[in-house]
Amino acid sequence: MLLTAALAYARHGIPVLPVHTAGPDGCSCDRGERCEHPGKHPRLRHGLTEATTDPRLIETWWRRWPSANVGLRTGVVMDVADVDSEEGWHGLCHVLGGSLPEGPAVRTGSGGWHFWFSPTGFGNRVRLLPGLDWRGSGGYVVAPPSRHATGADYRWVHRPTDDLPSGPPALRELIEGPHPPWHGNPDARTVPFHRPIAHPERYAQAVLTAETDRVARAPKGTRNDTLNRAAFALGRLAAAALLDPREAAQSLEAAAQFAGLGRAETRRTIRSGMSAGRRAPFTPDPTHRAA
Ligand SMILES: [Zn+2]
Repeated sequence: MLLTAALAYARHGIPVLPVHTAGPDGCSCDRGERCEHPGKHPRLRHGLTEATTDPRLIETWWRRWPSANVGLRTGVVMDVADVDSEEGWHGLCHVLGGSLPEGPAVRTGSGGWHFWFSPTGFGNRVRLLPGLDWRGSGGYVVAPPSRHATGADYRWVHRPTDDLPSGPPALRELIEGPHPPWHGNPDARTVPFHRPIAHPERYAQAVLTAETDRVARAPKGTRNDTLNRAAFALGRLAAAALLDPREAAQSLEAAAQFAGLGRAETRRTIRSGMSAGRRAPFTPDPTHRAA
């Protein structure tokens, strides 16, 4: 069944790659139960670069690993919005003007969603919004009927058709930017939404919760960068009077201390991140934005 599916994807021009499988004893890779991405990473040494539409190669792979999950390279036939929480779902709805896309949709084994769009030409964007990643050029997704580590299968809710929805401009703009100024785009003032957000305060509270949570859980080596990004995002919301800046700073500081960052470094990062964010105020209704 996995081989049949893999061949069908390839016939539609989607490069396919075999992915490890997760079972009761963990991942089929050498790390087994210690694997951090059970059933989600490529079986091939060169990973994504070996993805192919060649049916003979695909048959060879699945003869060798009959239960291999099916990975699909994104950015060729489709890009995928990867939603892994309710918050990501609401975020995507906002960007799409209040409704979910009508194109192909997958329920992932973990209870998340994959929505397929025609390729944007952009690469991957992790954390496009809280709970929402974008898989574009250079990325891949695990596709039905693969099995998730939870034991549930990835399954189609809406099967692919020949025309994929193209992301509306608001979505494209969100994927394109803005980037925080310390990532090489000092004049980024682009506002990612073309349409008004219905409940900006509620949205701001959701972002506050998501960002502080992310800071609190950030692994060593990424903590300061995560804090910086969070402070930037909250600074933008504070500049739009959607958050109390003192409350935002205090929440971030508590989260950073929980993550194990030192107090002086934490305060410095929050101050600089938030003031950079304040220079690019968040605009819930971009029709009113300054040029
Ligand atoms: Zn593994």
